[in-house]
Amino acid sequence: MLSDDQTPNSLINRPVFRQVIIIGAGTAGLSAAYQLKKSGFKNVLILEGQDRVGGRILTNYLDDSFSKPLDMGACWIHGLENNPVYELVQREQFPSHTGTILTYDIGMCVDENGNEIPNSLHVEVDQFFESLAQDIRDLFQLDSINNNQTSLVDKRLISESFQKVFSEKFQKFLNLNGGDGETRRLKLKLLQRRFDQETGECGCNSMDQVSHYEFGSYQRPKGPDLEFPCGYGSLIRYLRSLIPENWLCFEKFVENISWYNNDQRIKIECATGERYECDHCIVTIPLACLKWNYKSLFTPALPAWKTEAIHKLDMGTVDKIYLFYDNLDFIKGDSLAIIYDKDDNIDIKKEWYKKIFLFMKVYDNVLLGWITGDEAIYCEDLDETYIGDVLTNVLRKSLKNSSIPKPNKVIRTQWFSNPCSRGSYSYVPVGATSKQHIKDLSRPLYVNNVPKLLFAGEATHKNYYSTVHGAYITGQQQAENLIKFIKNDEKLARQSAKDMLTKVIFDISEPP
Ligand SMILES: Cc1cc2nc3c(=O)[nH]c(=O)nc-3n(C[C@H](O)[C@H](O)[C@H](O)COP(=O)(O)OP(=O)(O)OC[C@H]3O[C@@H](n4cnc5c(N)ncnc54)[C@H](O)[C@@H]3O)c2cc1C
Repeated sequence: MLSDDQTPNSLINRPVFRQVIIIGAGTAGLSAAYQLKKSGFKNVLILEGQDRVGGRILTNYLDDSFSKPLDMGACWIHGLENNPVYELVQREQFPSHTGTILTYDIGMCVDENGNEIPNSLHVEVDQFFESLAQDIRDLFQLDSINNNQTSLVDKRLISESFQKVFSEKFQKFLNLNGGDGETRRLKLKLLQRRFDQETGECGCNSMDQVSHYEFGSYQRPKGPDLEFPCGYGSLIRYLRSLIPENWLCFEKFVENISWYNNDQRIKIECATGERYECDHCIVTIPLACLKWNYKSLFTPALPAWKTEAIHKLDMGTVDKIYLFYDNLDFIKGDSLAIIYDKDDNIDIKKEWYKKIFLFMKVYDNVLLGWITGDEAIYCEDLDETYIGDVLTNVLRKSLKNSSIPKPNKVIRTQWFSNPCSRGSYSYVPVGATSKQHIKDLSRPLYVNNVPKLLFAGEATHKNYYSTVHGAYITGQQQAENLIKFIKNDEKLARQSAKDMLTKVIFDISEPP
């Protein structure tokens, strides 16, 4: 027998083989693994690029008893009815905590010079905005029911941006309900803040990028948005507990997937040099990472329809800035919105903070600022103490209170800088459609009628894109598709072995 140092190189470097390899241990990857485990699969591996599970779910805790979560990524269960994530929460009775239930409601609204904006004004603008948003969701639904035949859907609606159509409608609204010049200017600033807030919902830089018509393709299960009990990390810990620990391989950043080979095996290479082989691969890499890497990631190149889907769909950046204080007595109510004078040629280096659309109290000593798009990306490279200094000046000026202290600590997320996310969540931009491009993004690639590459992850769900429940469902669905195929294939293989046997017996019994 050979000892370790006598082992030939060819043996040391022999790739590890598994029947199924899942790339990514975020929600979609873990949910796919759980389905495979439930169906009795044993020969599975998850290759995860980072040193942790969860992907865009990451919960830190303010206390040792895990009762005060601080979610760096996802924090809400969006809607309850038929939401598999909510069903899990109920079934498994996840522990609850007493943290604030988060909403986008504005407690206090001021301009950057410290003038308070009457409640009635921002409520009026927000209500107008919401009713237009609901109209487009209803139109999309109706159109889907009528198989895209609704007469209201003209070409303009499909090719226009959300911001353009909404701004035009708002102008008409102002002509009827604008009030005096100053009130009109205020309402326009409030609309701009509302657009910025919507970039946080959609995960984009500007609502000019989002397709007006496809805005309606995003659907929410019925019911309110609930903060995940005890932080979203508890969902990830739970899913991880359902799969064998030895299925998980960390710090295996996949650099190449060779999916069309003579021996029918998929060959996977990691940045660390390790090689793996499998019969089927479920890819849950985020859309933005696919955009950055798809050319070098797949051999041979992906078919044109798949790369078109990767190009046409988009994913932007939403970051969180947590500010820690002794107390938040200097803010009235649960949240603060500041509206700014902004022109189109904003200098991001000086005015990045103007994109923070809301500050929320998440605990009685922790304030959370939401920032999106190019400004969020710029902020990811700033020193956290500097961010705290800039925001102290902003808060002092807009609340007319020079004694507001500097925060004791600042934490801001860096979802764009992370090579395993390259952003926060996906949306459907102008020029793309959920019907075509999300469908194509989710379509498996077959070799000789065998599904070789399957695609899951939030961006592959045609209505629940951008969400945890979307990611969970797509992981489950792709695993189920594969299970069905493999079981059917095994049945056919058993049948053909039986046929062969019958044939051999028949041959033998034939007279010479
Ligand atoms: C700030 C923020 C707030 C959010 N808020 C909410 C919310 O309130 N509610 C909600 O429902 N959703 C929210 N989301 C979105 C939600 O987090 C995601 O939709 C969901 O977690 C995506 O799951 P996924 O499995 O598709 O992708 P991911 O969780 O990103 O998993 C992909 C995995 O693949 C790994 N990976 C990437 N590249 C490679 C590679 N080359 N090799 C190996 N591994 C790789 C990654 O490390 C990651 O673990 C939020 C996201 C962010 C960033």
